[in-house]
Amino acid sequence: MDFIFPKLFPHRHFTTIKSADNMKNKSQRDSFFQSCSLNSKDLVLAKQVHGNNVKVVKSSDKNTIIDNCDALITDDNSVLLGIFTADCIPVLISCGSGKVKAAVHVGWKGLYLWIAENTIEILKKDFCINPKDIKVYIGPHIRFCCYKTGYEMEDKFDVKLVDSKLDLSAILFNKLKTYDINEIFDVNQCTHHNEDLFFSYRRNSCTQRLLSVI
Ligand SMILES: [Zn+2]
Repeated sequence: MDFIFPKLFPHRHFTTIKSADNMKNKSQRDSFFQSCSLNSKDLVLAKQVHGNNVKVVKSSDKNTIIDNCDALITDDNSVLLGIFTADCIPVLISCGSGKVKAAVHVGWKGLYLWIAENTIEILKKDFCINPKDIKVYIGPHIRFCCYKTGYEMEDKFDVKLVDSKLDLSAILFNKLKTYDINEIFDVNQCTHHNEDLFFSYRRNSCTQRLLSVI
C-alpha cells in the first residue's frame, strides 16, 4: 500500500507515503488516484502559504488549487480535499455523520496564526457543528524528537523548549482540547525520523510532498 489509512472516519481518508512518489507532480498524482479507484478531478487543493485563511469549497471548485489558503472545508460529498506536506502537520477533520469535512495544513506559522482555530470557528458558525462532534486525524509530521527550533518559539507559543526542540502536535492538541474536541487520532509518525516512509523537508530540502486526502 502506498498510503496510511487509519479508518477513523465514515469516508475515505489517507496520507500517501514515499512509495506513492511525489504527489505535487500531477501525472504521479493522477496515476496514484487511478490505482485507488479515485478520480483526481474530484480533488480540491490549497496553494498553502503558511497563512491562516480558510476556504469553503464546493463542487465547482473541483480540479483546482485555491489561492492564498491553508485550510479547506466542504459539505459536498463528491469533493475530495487534499493537503501537501513534508514535515508540517496534515490535519483532516470529519464532523458528525461525515457530511462536513476539512483538510488543514499546519506548520508552526499556521499554528501561530490560528489556522486550526479559524477552521473550527467556521465549522461552528457556518455549518452549526458542535466541536464535540468533530473527529480529528493528525498525520505524519516532524515531531518533538527531531524538530529543533529557535528559542523565540517559547514566547510565541508560551512553552518551554527542551534541547531547543518544539512539540508542534502537543500545541495543536492543546488548542483542540480547548474546544472540547475529544476524538483526536494521531498516527504518531515522524517524517524526519522515518526516511523509508516519508519525505522530510528538513532532512534534505526535498521538493517532493506527501498528500493527505479526505
Ligand atoms: Zn523524529
